[in-house]
Amino acid sequence: MKIGVLGAGQLGRMLALAGIPLGIEFVFYDNKPQSCAAGLGKFICAEFSDQQKLSEFADQVDVITLETENVPIATLEFVINKAPVFPGSDAVAVTQDRIREKEFFNRLGIPTARYFQVDTGSALRQIATQHKHTLMIKSRRFGYDGKGQMQLDHPDQANTIWQCLGQQPLIAEQRIAFNREVSIISVRRQSGEMCFYPLVENYHLDGILFRSHSQKNDPRQALAEEYAQRVMQALNYVGVLTIEFFDCDGELVANEIAPRVHNSGHWSIDAATTSQFENHLRAILNLPLGETSLEREFVMYNIISRMPDKSALLAIKGLHLHDYAKSSAMKRKLGHITLCNPTEKECSVVERILVQDEPSQASYLN
Ligand code: ATP
Ligand code: MG
Repeated sequence: MKIGVLGAGQLGRMLALAGIPLGIEFVFYDNKPQSCAAGLGKFICAEFSDQQKLSEFADQVDVITLETENVPIATLEFVINKAPVFPGSDAVAVTQDRIREKEFFNRLGIPTARYFQVDTGSALRQIATQHKHTLMIKSRRFGYDGKGQMQLDHPDQANTIWQCLGQQPLIAEQRIAFNREVSIISVRRQSGEMCFYPLVENYHLDGILFRSHSQKNDPRQALAEEYAQRVMQALNYVGVLTIEFFDCDGELVANEIAPRVHNSGHWSIDAATTSQFENHLRAILNLPLGETSLEREFVMYNIISRMPDKSALLAIKGLHLHDYAKSSAMKRKLGHITLCNPTEKECSVVERILVQDEPSQASYLN
């Protein structure tokens, strides 16, 4: 079996690391030459609009999937004529546009933050003046890791924010006062069979996911599964799909959908019976899905901006280090750590190692 993956970043890399033991081969397609999955299969580096290269890619694989939702829909529609694509372009299109995504949630009866479509600088000023609460202003498309979003506390900021965000279509969302952020990783196969991972609690630093952990029998598990089921059925979805929620006194308010494996599910490599990566591959190949249960307690941390001293980390028993082999850059995700059956002391040692020398993250240690 040969799988074609659009995108060749760390998610593609971890898909390959899960698929190789199953005898799966990979062909990656990305427009960036320095792509960290490149060494784990064949690699085609070309623009997503290059039909000749896309044909070469699609003609040599059995199934196509993606590791980023920002693949142009035209690319998906082009390759679907040559090989099946999971998830499908309709599902991906909904998640590419924050307004469409919110409308979709609301149609399914899933609560979201109140939101406003913003197409001009004067519309942003007007909304900011009328709406007395803090707003999160985000680009409608292509945002990730908190990029392309700013907080608006006062109408005077509207002009600056409109300029800083590139004078493009935006969404203004009411800022939610949540108790915690959670996400559900769910999987659906062509036959309609579905499974769900335990709900994960996520903590962001500076707009980027820093820490995820899970608790046994989370009180919001059943509600999150119900919402995920509605979303996957409505999209006739195949593969892994993630929904991020704000937990507001027990009510789950949906933030966004990722039509792919997700950072908050990386722990599943080391602490679940079957990883999210393996289950995504099983789903798109229409193979039986693997058990999703938690085999051990864990805390997952992202390694951001710089790779710390590996020997200090590996001295901690029960720690699994995943280095994506990427070059360092500010706010870039370089790897992650899963700490299994962690003690509080081990967590605080890891946190100190990860956030030291990072001025923006120093407050985390106080
Ligand atoms: P990621 O790639 O990490 O998912 P993103 O750039 O797609 O990030 P969001 O997930 O929408 O953007 O927002 C990033 C984080 O900013 C959220 O996880 C949350 O902490 C905060 N945030 C976003 N929208 C809101 C909101 N309406 N109310 C409160 N906090 C918010
Ligand atoms: Mg998010």
